[in-house]
Amino acid sequence: MADLILRAATLVDGTGADPVRNADVVVRDGRIVSVGPTEPAVTDTCVIDYGDATIMPGLIDCHCHLQFGAYSAHEKVRLVHAGASNEERILTAVANAQKALATGVTTLRDTGGFLTLNMNVRDAFVNGRVAGPRLLVCGAPITTTAGHLNWCGLRADSEDEVVRAVRAMVEAGADFIKVMATGGMMTPGSQAGESQYDLQTLGSLVTDAHRLDRHVAAHVLGADGCRDAIDAGVDTLEHCSWLTPEGVRGQSAMDVSAVDRIDPSHQSVHMTLAAMNRTPFRGLEHLDALASDERERIRQHGANFREMRERGVPHVISSDAGVIDTPFDEFPLSVVSTVIALDTTPVDAIQLVTSAAAQAIGLGELTGAVKPGRQADLLVVEGDVSENICNITRTASVYLGGREVARNRHLHVNAGTA
Ligand SMILES: [Zn+2]
Repeated sequence: MADLILRAATLVDGTGADPVRNADVVVRDGRIVSVGPTEPAVTDTCVIDYGDATIMPGLIDCHCHLQFGAYSAHEKVRLVHAGASNEERILTAVANAQKALATGVTTLRDTGGFLTLNMNVRDAFVNGRVAGPRLLVCGAPITTTAGHLNWCGLRADSEDEVVRAVRAMVEAGADFIKVMATGGMMTPGSQAGESQYDLQTLGSLVTDAHRLDRHVAAHVLGADGCRDAIDAGVDTLEHCSWLTPEGVRGQSAMDVSAVDRIDPSHQSVHMTLAAMNRTPFRGLEHLDALASDERERIRQHGANFREMRERGVPHVISSDAGVIDTPFDEFPLSVVSTVIALDTTPVDAIQLVTSAAAQAIGLGELTGAVKPGRQADLLVVEGDVSENICNITRTASVYLGGREVARNRHLHVNAGTA
């Protein structure tokens, strides 16, 4: 098969390295074979020149709920999902995944839907029967009776029950395990600030998941739950809000000694940005145009995360798409917001949604960087994204495994992973 050469004025490779000017990305059989300065085209190649655009890795969103409708109230998201048929849930999942792919999200990790339905969605994408991104699925989240997202159908209360729940999801085809270590905002009465499991139960869950070679993602809002998840050895700490037991937003009880126990060889913190920290960037041309009070408010939201980063904790940025006011075509806005929240550069923020994200979910050797040997999962955006992060929303083209699957935010037909 003839080589494909993608050319643009700027390359951001996703590793955090400085941008490369006028680089060629050479793709063969779906993989990147070389990345380097522009050379005269040899025969048997197809050169696509994107001019003053940026080539970067496809985005990796490690936290979303494909079956959820992203309505403007928690109650509606919950009631619509709980009342839907399985056929409706699957169709919603497919439509949402396609929406994300068209904006440059080439890998999605779904952190919880109804029982095993998402396994079917993943397999349909892999087989190429339906167009969609690379998908990692957990099935349903493991939660307590009356616990957060209990209507997804997987309730487990005792130590024996959580271990059985892990095995049931793995048997059904889960790529990883999701556990609700604390209550959550969208489940009335589940108490976001309180733990759902004790340390020993969480530890048994993690041990068995690791025995079966699955990583564990833990939803953690309350401070006790954050601490126990760290000590139980879960791999990805979702939200990690360090809320006080009352679950009051903005009141943090971050335990610095627990943060220092995070093992960077496999544990990472996944910041999800609520709608109020994302919507100010809708349609924004440049960060300079952001009002200073908004900038300060979002910076405040990032305070704990900046401190955890300074202490050496690996970070990832995720969307939590599907929940309240969080549609699947706005993940790029989370990256824009991250530049303010973490007080960092566009190149660093991009790393947190590409190579760092791939590393956190076990796909570090496969995707997440524009490097020889990796899958050619690529996002091309207009302009220089390293100079103006708002350009990340100006999607020009999306490649999945070396095939162009979307252009100008429109998905091609038959754009699956196969
Ligand atoms: Zn979630």
